[in-house]
Amino acid sequence: MKFDAPITIALSKGRIFEQSLPLLAHAGIEPADDPETSRKLILDTNHEQVKLVIIRATDVPTYVQYGAADLGIAGKDVLLEQGGEGLYEPLDLKIARCRMMTAGYPNTIETKGRLRVATKYVKSAQRFFAEKGEQVEIIKLYGSMELAPIVGLADLIVDLVESGNTLKANGLVPLEHITDISSRLVVNKASWKMKHNLVMQLINAFREAVNQPTT
Ligand code: ATP
Ligand code: MG
Repeated sequence: MKFDAPITIALSKGRIFEQSLPLLAHAGIEPADDPETSRKLILDTNHEQVKLVIIRATDVPTYVQYGAADLGIAGKDVLLEQGGEGLYEPLDLKIARCRMMTAGYPNTIETKGRLRVATKYVKSAQRFFAEKGEQVEIIKLYGSMELAPIVGLADLIVDLVESGNTLKANGLVPLEHITDISSRLVVNKASWKMKHNLVMQLINAFREAVNQPTT
């Protein structure tokens, strides 16, 4: 029997890596190193046909689209910005769950005219306000969005909210729900065809793990 070629899975360290571990374990994959302590960017696993590459969350779709990784685990927030083009998105892994929301000081929306909105989610923000028929000015940031209303850079932010504690600590409140976010499995289109057996094996194992009662 001929085995498929090896597979590389791209994912980011932090919450996505940690919450992916049980899913990977269900597929018989255990990383040989911990990315929080190791400086390695490519991790071997106990599965001789599977390697992990540890990259920035926003780079995951790019690696998968170009085939530098066969599979990837990426937040829906990242996929919405990237457009999700050139890759398959077969499975909601239901990890790293949160909500994309607008946030600001209470009463911001009623008291202002044309709002300035700071965010790293430019496309999602544009789409949200366009669908409401609201003219806003969008200011692209790369992080620490909560600071923008405090220093008067923007009236609102569009950011991910889990507990709301970061907003609260900065005197802000969540205002409008834009969309629910979770991490998705993404697959390179050529790998889907050329490495079909192993890709399907992994997808099925992940699907089984996702649908298990507790994780
Ligand atoms: P960095 O924080 O290093 O600039 P990042 O924001 O891209 O990079 P993370 O904060 O680890 O990296 O987020 C990675 C992914 O985890 C996001 O794309 C999103 O899908 C998810 N995520 C981000 N913040 C939260 C949150 N508060 N709760 C749950 N999931 C989140
Ligand atoms: Mg972050």
